[in-house]
Amino acid sequence: MTASPYRGEVIAFATMHGKERLARDAFRDVLGARVVAPAGLDTDAFGSFSGEVPRTRSPLDTARAKARLALDTSGATAALASEGSFRSDFGWLTRHQELLVFVDDVRRIELVEAFAGPIELPPARDVTTGERAVAFAEAMGFPRQGVMVHADRAQGTEVAKELRTPNALAAHVDRLARAGASLTITPDYRAHRSSARSEVIRRLCLRMAERLAAPCPACATPGYGRTDVRRGLPCGDCGEPTSLPLADVHGCAACDASHLVPRTPSRAEPRWCDRCNP
Ligand SMILES: [Zn+2]
Ligand SMILES: [Zn+2]
Repeated sequence: MTASPYRGEVIAFATMHGKERLARDAFRDVLGARVVAPAGLDTDAFGSFSGEVPRTRSPLDTARAKARLALDTSGATAALASEGSFRSDFGWLTRHQELLVFVDDVRRIELVEAFAGPIELPPARDVTTGERAVAFAEAMGFPRQGVMVHADRAQGTEVAKELRTPNALAAHVDRLARAGASLTITPDYRAHRSSARSEVIRRLCLRMAERLAAPCPACATPGYGRTDVRRGLPCGDCGEPTSLPLADVHGCAACDASHLVPRTPSRAEPRWCDRCNP
């Protein structure tokens, strides 16, 4: 980190769930910057995993709004924010998308790093007894991995997020089941309660720090890196373009500078080709 543009700078992470700890090492080691979490931010106001506050904006707009809030409350000139979304289709796997946004008001740049992939956490399940709830929770790593219990009753829906032990979870479920509630248990995706998700955020923070250490070759603005992919890798048999990526586009967040970084191998297997394998 010889000439880090962020050496000694303070970067605000918009979080109330300890995400600043996931960025701290990378931003210190790679950039010499200090990551803090502004006190008193209510990031749940933008929507919560428990469903109590519905999410109305796109994940990217939500992350931007959180970063903006962190800038406004902290007085820092650069901020980080992340936004996760989870979708369960079937079976045991859940699809996880995570966006990490970096906003710098001085250099007038916005950078996004993204992850999409499976996370080994199960979809929601209905439970009727404490014993079943504990077995389901422990199979996903509870209590290290947190759970949320949604209880639907005539009086409305109640969400319990702070059940930290098998005994507390079992007692809670049994009590509400006796009271006639219908109960659903889900993983708690909040970063401080899910090591699977927090590891993804930690990796995105490292990628972001490394990207910020790369200056644009044309204007020297920090954050030169991958901004897009170009599709059309030619088929190895017939040479027709396929839908596979041909190259990554690396670009600058401040000026028009960009270049292509070809993918290897430079030919697609014919099984991806619409002409050879329709
Ligand atoms: Zn540039
Ligand atoms: Zn072909």
